[in-house]
Amino acid sequence: MVNWQEYTSLLRPAKILICTLCRARPLGYNHLPMLNLYDLNYPALENLLQTWGFSPYHAGRIWAYLYQEQVDTVAVMTDLRRDLQDRLVQDTAVPLPHTRLDTHSSDGFTRKFLLALADGQTIETVLMGFKGRATACVSTQVGCAMGCVFCATGQMGFTRHLSAGEIVGQVLFVDRLLQETSQPRLRNIVLMGMGEPLHNYEATMTAVDILTHPKGMAIAPRHITLSTVGVVPGIIRLADEGRQVRLAVSLHGATDAERQALVPPARRWPLAELLDACRYYTQKRKRHIFFEWTLIEDKNDAPEQAHALGQLLQTIPAHVNLIPLNPTPGYDGLPTARPSVKQFQAILTQYGIPSTVRQRRGIDIAAGCGQLKVSDIQVSGVK
Ligand code: SAH
Ligand code: SF4
Repeated sequence: MVNWQEYTSLLRPAKILICTLCRARPLGYNHLPMLNLYDLNYPALENLLQTWGFSPYHAGRIWAYLYQEQVDTVAVMTDLRRDLQDRLVQDTAVPLPHTRLDTHSSDGFTRKFLLALADGQTIETVLMGFKGRATACVSTQVGCAMGCVFCATGQMGFTRHLSAGEIVGQVLFVDRLLQETSQPRLRNIVLMGMGEPLHNYEATMTAVDILTHPKGMAIAPRHITLSTVGVVPGIIRLADEGRQVRLAVSLHGATDAERQALVPPARRWPLAELLDACRYYTQKRKRHIFFEWTLIEDKNDAPEQAHALGQLLQTIPAHVNLIPLNPTPGYDGLPTARPSVKQFQAILTQYGIPSTVRQRRGIDIAAGCGQLKVSDIQVSGVK
């Protein structure tokens, strides 16, 4: 865990280099006037070293400190040549988020954190399914601009993007937790927490590059799933750029009118355009796509809607994840009852489309996206 006292003692407010984090609250008590080393992918760190007049070769040792040893502060990077270490101490930091709330679900499989960032903003990170198959669900934004009606994060609106280092920081936070309890290292990540990853494309992809780099967290790209509401330009870019992460597309409606009622960005990217982008992705990447469908009683769970979905996905290699709604305070919909879920699934099977019913685990700890933050705001009034 980061030792904040030690960390803040390293801060030299007079030497402000980069402070992209502080636009929202420039005078926050955890003001971060240094370069966050977790923001840099490997080539960027090599470039920085060269700019400073050092060999890029040192990047390997610095990354071993960051991602293998997972040090709390640059002050302990004592293997490096002295002038480089002094420069790092002077101008950089390795800030991790700190716990504001830590909740365990009664099923014992989910632990959800509300984490505070350097500027005091909070995000949610979830650790699911312990015992060797742990998955971290991480956020990519504080809030979300997309406004899906049933989603607690959408209901709170957009505050800011996360930096790559803040996305990576959540993974390190969870990985340390597993190590502290002698569990195997983290191997699965889903970008399904707060925010829309393809609306924060650059930072999200820099984080993916750090997480998958053999000298970084060395997580297999196929063990990272990115979920998008359907940002078409982002899907095309993802297909073109060639990262081997898995893609999930949140569909929720099989006609434009039904989808638009739940997912406002569907007005900007109609289904025909979205499915063209999905087909392009599957052809280019040679991978199927997961389609997520939040099942809401009497909204999108009728047999005809299952037939429409089955027909829609005929020409795309697809796997459908059916997620009964996790009710949120700002939306009065109800989850689809079990028999209707089964019926919906059976219809998809008739079309040859595989599907899985996913319960959002830990409903008792507000495990739906954004819900822990909402309950914290209600109790403490802090945004
Ligand atoms: N913005 C991305 C990723 C974050 S949301 C996206 O929308 O895909 C991750 C998933 O959780 C999405 O499929 C979303 O539709 C779903 N979701 C959000 N709120 C939910 C809720 N209250 N109940 C069930 N699923 C929910
Ligand atoms: Fe944003 Fe995803 Fe929530 Fe929609 S479901 S508001 S895109 S986080």
